[in-house]
Amino acid sequence: MPELPEVEIYSRYFRRHGLRQKIAAVRVRDERVLGDIRPDRLVRDLRGRAFRDVRRHGKHLFADAGGTWLHLHFGMTGDLAAYREDEPRFARVIFDFANGMHLAFEDMRLFGVVDLTSDPDRFIAEHGLGPDPLDPTFKLADFRRLLERRKGAVKSLLMSQEIIAGIGNLYADEILFQTSIHPRRPVDRIDRDEARAVLHAMRKILREVIARHEAGREVPGSYLLNHREAGARCPRCGGTVVRSVVFGRTTYHCGRHQRA
Ligand SMILES: [Zn+2]
Repeated sequence: MPELPEVEIYSRYFRRHGLRQKIAAVRVRDERVLGDIRPDRLVRDLRGRAFRDVRRHGKHLFADAGGTWLHLHFGMTGDLAAYREDEPRFARVIFDFANGMHLAFEDMRLFGVVDLTSDPDRFIAEHGLGPDPLDPTFKLADFRRLLERRKGAVKSLLMSQEIIAGIGNLYADEILFQTSIHPRRPVDRIDRDEARAVLHAMRKILREVIARHEAGREVPGSYLLNHREAGARCPRCGGTVVRSVVFGRTTYHCGRHQRA
């Protein structure tokens, strides 16, 4: 399931393959991925324009088409593919560029969304999305404010898109693993130093995974991501990895070094 690092990679891919080419046609192969927009409107509003820039917020990608923005959300199996001849099997919406190249939004399981929006900032506000953790204007003080007066498990807070946009199940577990915090720890028992450590780990992990993805490399062996299995040995302390369910999601943590 694409989380923030994967969507960042898609965003860079879109930037490399989708910008500054006249959109000759838009083909909707499967209307089920369309948001609130009718297929003819999507085609009419984009044809003849060119994508000028791409921006990501959390797991959402926006491409500026001058006057309107394409909005993509990748659901569970969304992906992008640029090609000249062989159309990908699960292409649901295809942008045909005047130079003969095509950019397909692929989505095998159809949980993704293709839509238009007039303004990404308004979209973010209307959908109540929290700040993007890699936004440089997002500071520790902002993060600590977001944690104030909250209750419930820290893992569920990290996964709430209205608090922080872009963290899903895997990275919430990873952040807590690397900061030695039990996923069920109540948020009001996260102290100042831990809040700082969580924000720092969040950024370090996201940046490192993006860099590794970009280079076609695996994430480090010291990451919990490579040890998500009940009974596995913790790569940090040799303890045992425990599986549980938090916030309805399968959760892994080290039974020894992550403190409740
Ligand atoms: Zn451990």
